[in-house]
Formats: sequence, C-alpha cells, structure tokens
Amino acid sequence: MTEELLAEADTQRAARPPIETVNPATGEPGRSYQPTSIDEAHAAAAAARAAFEQWRRTSFAERSAVIRKAGAILRQRKDEFARLMTEEMGKTLDEGRAEIEKCAFQCDWFADHAHEYLADQPTDIGGGEAFVTFNPIGVVLAVMPWNFPFWQVFRFAAPALMAGNGGLLKHASNVPGCALAIEDVLHQAGVPRNLFRTLLLPSSDVEALIKDDHVAAVTLTGSVGAGRSVATAAGSVLKKCVLELGGSDAYLVLEDANIEAAAKIAATARMVNGGQSCIAGKRFIVIRAVLEQFESALTNAMRGYEIGDPAREGTKLGPMQSAKARDDIHAQVNESVRKGARLLLGGKVPDRPGAWYPATVLTNVLPGQPAHDEEVFGPVAAIIAAEDEADAIRIANASEFGLGSGVLTGDLDRGRRIAAEELEAGMSFVNENVRSDPRMPFGGVKHSGYGRECSAFGIREFVNIKSVHVKPLVPGGGSGDAVE
Ligand code: NAP
Repeated sequence: MTEELLAEADTQRAARPPIETVNPATGEPGRSYQPTSIDEAHAAAAAARAAFEQWRRTSFAERSAVIRKAGAILRQRKDEFARLMTEEMGKTLDEGRAEIEKCAFQCDWFADHAHEYLADQPTDIGGGEAFVTFNPIGVVLAVMPWNFPFWQVFRFAAPALMAGNGGLLKHASNVPGCALAIEDVLHQAGVPRNLFRTLLLPSSDVEALIKDDHVAAVTLTGSVGAGRSVATAAGSVLKKCVLELGGSDAYLVLEDANIEAAAKIAATARMVNGGQSCIAGKRFIVIRAVLEQFESALTNAMRGYEIGDPAREGTKLGPMQSAKARDDIHAQVNESVRKGARLLLGGKVPDRPGAWYPATVLTNVLPGQPAHDEEVFGPVAAIIAAEDEADAIRIANASEFGLGSGVLTGDLDRGRRIAAEELEAGMSFVNENVRSDPRMPFGGVKHSGYGRECSAFGIREFVNIKSVHVKPLVPGGGSGDAVE
C-alpha cells in the first residue's frame, strides 16, 4: 500500500469502533479487536489475486501437504480453539472439541481426495482428444456465521484451497478471535499469507468486496436476508455465488416407529449446538395415532438437556449466542403460545446473567404460529399433528425452507421411499439426525439456498469446468459442425 492509502486506512480504522466480544454465559465483556478498513480489504483482495496466480500452479501434492498440516495443527490446538468458541459464542467445550476434530477430518479428506474429484475426465466425442478439466477460478469471498465458527469456514476453505483458489474470510462479528485463529492455522500450515486473509469487516462492506474485480465469487452461510443481499450484489456483477441459508427441518414420526427411540433421535436433532444449527430438527410432524406417546417421550428426552456452564465437561446445553438471540427465540415461543400452541416444557427465561434459554417443547403447533412458519434458532421443539403419511409429507413440504429432513419409522423401505422421493430438502435421513459430512453433498433447496458444499459436488462449485478438445491440424481439413 502507498503511504497515502495507509494513512487513509488508519483514518478509516480510527472511525470504526473496536470490535468487542461478549461472553454469552456471563454477559461480561471479552476481548477487543481492531477492525479492518475497507481500503485494507480491497488491498487484501488484490494481494490474494496475485498470490492465487502462484498457488494455482502448485501441484495437488504440494497443496495436500499444506492442508493436511492444517488438519494436524487443528488437532494439536483443539482445546485452545474449543475454549475460544465457548468464550465468544457459548458453545459447550465438548461440542467445540468435536467441531475441531471434524474440521481436521475435512482437511484430511480434501487433501486426500481433491485430486480425484478434480481429475481430468476423458470424453469420447468421436474424434481427437476430448476431456473435461477443472481450473480454479480465483479468490472466493466467504461470508460466514458464528454458530459453527470453525466448521463453516473449513467446509469452504479446505476444498477451495485444494482446488487452487484463494480465500477472503468475512466472519460473523461476534467471533473475531475464531476468525483470526483460522487464518493463523492456515498460515502456520503453509498457506501463503496473502492467499487467505481474515478481514474483520461489518456486513455493510460485503457488497463492495463482492464488486471488487479481484474477487471471483462469493459463498455465504447465514440467514435468508443476508443471502438475498449477497445474491443481489453478486448478480449485479454476474459473479457466481453459493448460498447455505436457514432451515426449518421437519422430521416425520410415523406410527410404526419405536417412539422412545424416535424421541431420542428427535431430541438429539433439535439440541445440536443448543438448537442453533441450520440442520437442527425443528418441526416434528407426528401421526396422530402416536401423538400423545411422542409428546411425553420427547418431553422426557428434552428434559435431559439441562443448562449449565459451557466451559465444564459434560454440559449438554450452554447459553444462546447472545441475549438478543435469546430474546428473539423467547418472543417466537410466546407468540406461538398466544396463538394456540401448548407448552410442555421450558419456555421461561432463567433469572441469571447471560443469554440462557431452557430446553422447550411446544405442541399443538399450527400454521400462523412462529414455531410453525419460521426458523426458531434455539432449543425449541415444535410438535405438529398429522392425520396420516400423506398429510405429514404435505406439512413437511409446506415450508419456505428445504435444507434437511428426516423420517423416523420401523419400516426401512417406507423410510427410504419418503426420504428419497417425497421430501423437498437437500438432505433426508432415516432414523438418525441430519449431519454434514465431507463425503456427501451438503446444501438446500427453496429459501435454504443453492449450490453444494462437501464431496465432489462442493469442490466443483468454485472451478471453471472446462471442455477441451484437441485435434491435429490437417491441411485442407474443415472445421466441424456449424451449429452452436
Ligand atoms: P446472518 O445474520 O445472516 O450472518 C451470517 C453472516 O452474514 C455474518 O458474517 C454476517 O455478518 C453476514 N451478514 C449479515 N447480513 C448481511 C448482509 N445483509 N449482507 C452481507 N452479509 C451479511 O446469520 P446468523 O443469524 O448469524 O446465523 C444464523 C443463520 O444462518 C440461520 O438462519 C441459520 O439457519 C443459517 N445457517 C445456515 C447454514 C447452512 O449451511 N445452510 C449453516 C449455519 C447457519 P455480521 O455478523 O457482521 O452481521
């Protein structure tokens, strides 16, 4: 940067207040971070583009060594990173450690498999040498949420870097420490400093960065509103975008299911990350014949998720990410009750400092209630009655979202058919809770977004899928078909 730009960046930084974290378990202030200025962000984009020109020419073996090392560093620093997540967004230590392990697995998986996912594909088109090849596209901007502060980023970063791309991370404003720690891991592993940068920017700067000529594409994991803004900005400059947005995952509880076992899976699905997961089970659609039995079994299973100190081993439910998020959840519960839902468990804000909300079960959940129509991003299970299988499928699909979904049944053929053919969702699991996995595509339909992460489908989102045809030049030979 020139001296003038540096001076301007200092002025902008001074104008931006520091980013202060808050410990959601106590409401106490945490650390303070210096924000990035927009000029620094544009300079980082230019530098990342320049670094990409080198990185794209490295071999898969060279990139694999770096990404595998990132996985090893994550494992070495697992406890430190789990604590950081606890302090910044309230994740329990146990879930934090599991998250770091999963990131390390993601690194290993793409280090081992990127070359096969992106290997040239020979194609017979009746003459010459034809093949499909996969070129990296450049610098990808990643706008990420706080709920899985490491996993969401590695879900994008490991395949993007293995494909030969660069990355810029704009993480959620409440997890700046995690954002910088991720940059540190990648740099320590050998990712060139300029190729991957964390930028501590407000969301109001995202549009300008999408429009930066050095940025090739954008991926956002977050809310529908943020997705709409990012897609609009990307569309205005015709750049590729992948959107992983919200969900209101439905689980069908069929009359042939073992209800105790189904309720345990339902509670696990609902309570992942304190209920703050896009693929948490949110609506449990129960055939009326087993409704009362399921209400009682789910209430019992949810009662097991007692709130406790997230920094203590074995805690099953920590605080929500912020007091504001907790208040939003409570307002959705109250409004649902006002409109006819019945509270079977929880639903009261504990009288203590911090962003706490208890495990909550609502039944008689009907259209028009927030628990039915909206995404509730917390530990609130909504039970909806259905008359029969067809009615349950209709209710499940009558949602703006289509991320995950599940079927709980004693009949595997029935479950397989409903999961594979009937549910409008990117993922449908039978007799287990939906989870992301590096080996399977992850993403949604409808307002849950578009594009996929993980697996061969994910790594191919940010590459130029190029057709190449090579033929000898024959004197007097004509070109082929005149049709486009
Ligand atoms: P959010 O408010 O949309 O924030 C996500 C990210 O987008 C943050 O970095 C945020 O920055 C940024 N952002 C917010 N508004 C923006 C805008 N108008 N333009 C550009 N960037 C913007 O989402 P959240 O409430 O933190 O996260 C929860 C949501 O994410 C839920 O709906 C959940 O289902 C969804 N989610 C989806 C997936 C998936 O894979 N499908 C995974 C996890 C979460 P700031 O923090 O600075 O505002």
